[in-house]
Amino acid sequence: MSDKYDVVVIGAGPGGYVAAIRAAQLGLKTACVEKGQNKEGKPTYGGTCLNVGCIPSKALLEASHKYAETQHDFAELGIEVSDVQMNVKKMIAHKDSIVSKLTQGVGGLLKANGVTALHGSGKVLSGKKVEVTAQDGSVQVVEAENIIIASGSVPVEIPPAPLTEGLIVDSTGALEFEEVPGRLGVIGGGVIGLELGSVWSRLGSEVTVLEAQDTFLASTDQEIAKAAKKVLSKQGLNIQIGARVTGTEVKGNEVVVTYTDAKGEQQQTFDKLIVCVGRRPYTEALLSNDCGVTLDERGFIYVDDHCRTSVPGVYAIGDVVRGPMLAHKASEEGMTVADLIAGHKAEMNYDVIPGVIYTFPEIASVGKTEEEVKAEGVEYETGTFPFQAIGRAMTNGCTDGMVKIITEKASDRILGMHIMGQNAGEMIHQGVIAMEFGSSAEDLALMCFAHPTLSEAVHEAALAVDGHAIHMPNRKKRK
Ligand code: FAD
Ligand code: AMP
Repeated sequence: MSDKYDVVVIGAGPGGYVAAIRAAQLGLKTACVEKGQNKEGKPTYGGTCLNVGCIPSKALLEASHKYAETQHDFAELGIEVSDVQMNVKKMIAHKDSIVSKLTQGVGGLLKANGVTALHGSGKVLSGKKVEVTAQDGSVQVVEAENIIIASGSVPVEIPPAPLTEGLIVDSTGALEFEEVPGRLGVIGGGVIGLELGSVWSRLGSEVTVLEAQDTFLASTDQEIAKAAKKVLSKQGLNIQIGARVTGTEVKGNEVVVTYTDAKGEQQQTFDKLIVCVGRRPYTEALLSNDCGVTLDERGFIYVDDHCRTSVPGVYAIGDVVRGPMLAHKASEEGMTVADLIAGHKAEMNYDVIPGVIYTFPEIASVGKTEEEVKAEGVEYETGTFPFQAIGRAMTNGCTDGMVKIITEKASDRILGMHIMGQNAGEMIHQGVIAMEFGSSAEDLALMCFAHPTLSEAVHEAALAVDGHAIHMPNRKKRK
């Protein structure tokens, strides 16, 4: 078999493996280079998402939620349980078994679709060649008509909090604690910090989240973010905003963290510290000096709206390029690029990418926030509806949160949907579908939603946009 491919993909995360599968499905001879290895030293696929990201974090979130629910929420339903124990090792083993199934599953999918898996570290050379260096040091060079770079991202490290084995860890380390830390510090109140903080808080840790910015969840719709802060604080997360970590000192088995806030310099001592201050594009040893692929000022691979790099025939997708660092954004770009390479028309709609924070309740959004439309000077309307007035939310025992719909005033077209509530991550797709089809709030309002469901809050929020909500007094006058 020759070593020339129609497409060589570098990285088998949700961007890369999806791109490779799609390219192969479209009849292109495709190889996928992946350097990742699992705990047993075997090749692993699925990137950050399946190995140390989306999936393992959700496994721990689900287990810890069930534990917390059993302890705190069952009694009200008449279910009396006593002596509830958490076996952390079993929880971690369960998480590992899911990771193993899914990562092997991706390997199987690549094979079933006829993608050649090349194990090793890929480097883009000039002339659309890729050098693959295997673990044993052996090197092969493959040629490609097209290259798709999907090398992903890695956690950001900050000088005031260098990682220290077992004490100061990043998100990957926080998925592996063998016991529940007594006092847990989390630097960064972003998506990952709140999710991992929630896991260990539910299991009994005393969690403090130190967030440098003065605004909680600054890029989330602030009506939702404010409600979320209240609920999460009530659950026991000590969220300190405007608290910038400036130093750490390891003293025996403890970490003393220094931070500055409005009151000046503060110190707090923790048994473990998680650094969750964001992720950066991963381009180490990826590009030869003469390959022509350029980076932007923030270190991402520069691409245009169609994920084309500065070199014709070389594309880049996922976390290593601009845009939200989300698995589904990476996958969507992967499919789009494979379609383009195969000669089909394809385009990404960057305006309609949902995002979910898997706290309890979940926080999900798609499209623009109220702050964004305001800043753009768009004339808009909003319709909100609280889960407090939803029967199904009461039967489920979670009435926290709301649905908020933002529309363009003149056309009633939906510009954004924001949900905090149980299953918000599932419900948000009603907004995704509506926005993709250019729906108005009235379109949603005229649809028949099943009763009793949480989704009725979406229906009611759509009705509320012009003052027609049925199950609560309307804030605005009926038109
Ligand atoms: P990655 O998944 O990072 O994959 C890149 C792959 O490329 C890796 O396997 C790497 O080994 C390989 N690679 C890199 N360089 C080379 C090279 N030179 N040669 C060969 N192989 C190489 N996103 C969501 O959408 N939902 C979530 O709930 C969510 N939760 C998360 C929770 C955590 C704790 C973390 C850390 C992330 C989470 N994310 C979530 C983000 C999500 O994991 C990423 O956005 C996604 O994995 C990006 O996909 P990717 O394909 O671009 O890169
Ligand atoms: P995200 O980008 O969503 O993963 O969130 C990372 C968060 O970490 C951001 O909200 C940052 O403001 C925050 N952050 C970054 N550096 C520090 C620091 N030194 N102390 C506290 N928070 C920080």
